[in-house]
Amino acid sequence: TVALVKKHPAVKSQLGAAIGLTGGLAVMRSLGLAREIDPYLTPMRSFKGSSLVGGGGAAEPEGKLTTSFGEAMIPEKAQFELPPILLDRRSSESRNYLRNYEMFHDEGGAAASDSQRRRTVHGISRSALSDDQSGPSSEAFMAMITREHLHALLHRTLPLNVSLWLNCNVVHVEPFSYGGTSASVTLSDGTRLTGDLVVGADGIHSIVRRTVASDDADGRTLTTSQRRYTGISGVYGLVVKHTFELMMKCSLKKDEKAEALLESLPVGGLHEFEGKGAIATVFNLKRHYMFVFFEAREDPPTSDENWTNPAVQEEISSKIKAQGMPSLFEHLLRAAPDGGRVVHLGLYESEPMRTSWSRGRAVLLGDSAHATTPFLGQGANQAMLDAWSLAFHLPPANASDYICADDDDLHHHIQKALHRYETARSTHATNIKSVSRMFGHIRLGITSWDRCVRRCFMQTLLTCGRGCLFRQMLKWASQLNV
Ligand SMILES: Cc1cc2nc3c(=O)[nH]c(=O)nc-3n(C[C@H](O)[C@H](O)[C@H](O)COP(=O)(O)OP(=O)(O)OC[C@H]3O[C@@H](n4cnc5c(N)ncnc54)[C@H](O)[C@@H]3O)c2cc1C
Repeated sequence: TVALVKKHPAVKSQLGAAIGLTGGLAVMRSLGLAREIDPYLTPMRSFKGSSLVGGGGAAEPEGKLTTSFGEAMIPEKAQFELPPILLDRRSSESRNYLRNYEMFHDEGGAAASDSQRRRTVHGISRSALSDDQSGPSSEAFMAMITREHLHALLHRTLPLNVSLWLNCNVVHVEPFSYGGTSASVTLSDGTRLTGDLVVGADGIHSIVRRTVASDDADGRTLTTSQRRYTGISGVYGLVVKHTFELMMKCSLKKDEKAEALLESLPVGGLHEFEGKGAIATVFNLKRHYMFVFFEAREDPPTSDENWTNPAVQEEISSKIKAQGMPSLFEHLLRAAPDGGRVVHLGLYESEPMRTSWSRGRAVLLGDSAHATTPFLGQGANQAMLDAWSLAFHLPPANASDYICADDDDLHHHIQKALHRYETARSTHATNIKSVSRMFGHIRLGITSWDRCVRRCFMQTLLTCGRGCLFRQMLKWASQLNV
């Protein structure tokens, strides 16, 4: 059995807005969840870019210098599929594991019952081996889903053998219990949970990482900071579409430019506006508009500078205006506190790991090992690919019945699996972090040199082969080699 321990009282995202799924969607589909997830997705097919910075580098009043410099359009029937998950079919050991998964777990095909589909989540279904990722979003470069829907769906489809421990704060991790053959966590109320493996999917403030990365032979918890501020902060929000459109219609002062901008943006389209050291993007999703405003900022916002503070809303609004961003963003900002969810946040990435991702029977996964900036939209996707890879390498829960001769053999298998998982994932995750950081700095255009590079880079990215280069970049990001 699996105990899923979460310090928050509900299965609910702490961040608002939506995320773009690429490799993560391939994982969900391969787990047999295509039918559940597809209705919530908005396949993204067009990425349009406009620059608000003139030749002299100064931001001009809205509308004066807005040059559209490119658009990546993915036609409805384009020959592009979400990246298939690549399993290394050459490795005989991988094949054996896969056979075992398939022997012991049903496939989650379209005709499978609910309980069958639930069981598929334990293992990797056969569809993972095929390139068949067909579905409504198979031609898109990514598919957006609100965090709320993603969490609800993951909650609903939890396998039956997973017990959820909500509102439970892990305060201590012991990676070497019972002579190193188990690990345990201690909760703030003193409860101790022991298992074969502790998977630290506990985010950028990970307590598991503090133990795993500890140089101390006893695994005593590290106290140094595990994350660094990237010099970029911003606002990230979601507005319910029908209330926003109603608000715009009923507004006494018509804003034709904002309405025209909305009309020009198809469902599944995003439009990014480049300023000086800032970008603003609007996404047209099925039921929501999502907007993002990122700016270069020396210090991260303090806890007082959250979105509920009216002074913060005022400040962001005037910054958006000063950048010459379309007035649509001000309307979205104003609408957000009523109908949607907004966060004002600093962007952080994790410090590089100087030790292995595992220690004894504790292992890191997702942001705890490699938190990245959101500019490639890969944080959650990489966490899901990590989970896939770890599940792929670990022997099945009942392995001792048919794979391992004894407990020592099982221990050896687990250690080898942790090593293989890290080898498969760590270089790619580190590369994603670097590319995402670089991509973010290029897109923000802080110095005039940055803005020159940005113009050439984004133009090439969006126009080359009608977005072919852009799709290749996402495909690279979503690859999984096990
Ligand atoms: C502005 C922004 C935009 C983003 N956009 C995208 C995007 O478009 N696409 C994308 O793929 N990613 C995106 N990301 C990144 C994505 O949100 C993260 O990478 C992802 O959530 C990481 O998942 P995780 O499971 O590793 O950690 P988290 O989502 O942080 O989850 C950690 C969990 O651990 C629990 N926990 C933590 N500490 C404890 C403890 N001591 N005891 C018990 N439980 C604990 C928490 O309750 C939480 O449930 C974005 C991030 C930001 C900030």
